[in-house]
Amino acid sequence: MAEQAFVTLATNDSYARGAMVLGKSLRNHKTSKKLVVLIGPHVSDQSRAVLHKIYDDVRLVDVLDSGDTAHLAMMKRPDLGVTFTKLHCWTLTHYSKCVFMDADTLVVSNIDELFDREELSAAPDPGWPDCFNSGVFVFIPSNETYGRLLQFCTEHGSFDGGDQGVLNGFFSDWATADITKHLPFIYNMSSIAIYTYLPAFKQYGANAKVVHFLGATKPWSYTYDPRQRRVRGDVAAAAHPGFLLEWWTLYSGEVVPMLMREYGDQPFCSGCEEDAGESEPVQTLMSSAERKQRWEQGQADYMGIDSFDNIQKKLDVFLK
Ligand code: UDP
Ligand code: MN
Repeated sequence: MAEQAFVTLATNDSYARGAMVLGKSLRNHKTSKKLVVLIGPHVSDQSRAVLHKIYDDVRLVDVLDSGDTAHLAMMKRPDLGVTFTKLHCWTLTHYSKCVFMDADTLVVSNIDELFDREELSAAPDPGWPDCFNSGVFVFIPSNETYGRLLQFCTEHGSFDGGDQGVLNGFFSDWATADITKHLPFIYNMSSIAIYTYLPAFKQYGANAKVVHFLGATKPWSYTYDPRQRRVRGDVAAAAHPGFLLEWWTLYSGEVVPMLMREYGDQPFCSGCEEDAGESEPVQTLMSSAERKQRWEQGQADYMGIDSFDNIQKKLDVFLK
């Protein structure tokens, strides 16, 4: 039987760091599957060397150079660059079945059972649950499907400008046809769920198997103090701080030493601040108008001033 693989994608060094952490998390949870990373031409030699140590298969995909149907499709829709690159995963026909995972995901438990599922299996998107989130999905590599996907992409584009719009357009009966293709949310638990349904997160969050740092701020957008084991930056406004700390613990403990070996004497910025000293993480003080605005944008300070306990206290005082 042909092999099965987890597949991710990194077109630059930032996402490559995400891919390194993801690969390490899959290995640490003892996956029996192969690990494949698709990289773009802008990924540095040092990052490639580290990816080679973590992944079984590092494949360069350059949609612009490929000179085939992908190239032609790309010429017609230059706006969908990274999307075309992600669709490349269907060309991995050396493998019989794969699970694609975004480079901004982290595995917190073994998930090899996903290979029992059929194409296209995915978890609902928290923003619009009749669409699937394309950060984690089960697929069957096939050049035929790849061709049809490119054609669909060129003709219909993407309703959201990214791969999720294309894939939901193409696998358009996902919401209604077969419930076994709905992965439980714990296989793609996005941080946004904490904001939109806090009691459910409190009840089920601990069952998460895959955490997805979806949105503009990625784990590598922060900095980290390894001595105090603290993530610095606007931590409360982002993902679940505990999972963010888990990402940084893995990155600083297992990935940074590998990067340091590759960079040698050359300077490179790991994001770890060894000499940050004893200073406290920057606490920004906000006016209540600013706070209201942030709340309304879904950026409450859940671990600080807007924490569940604080809100409860306020309600108690109010009700008395
Ligand atoms: N990606 C990439 N380079 C980019 C943007 C995206 O390699 O410049 C890949 C990466 O694997 C990433 C995935 O495409 O995880 C989807 O993008 P992202 O995770 O940023 O989208 P979100 O999940 O926040 O919607
Ligand atoms: Mn993502």
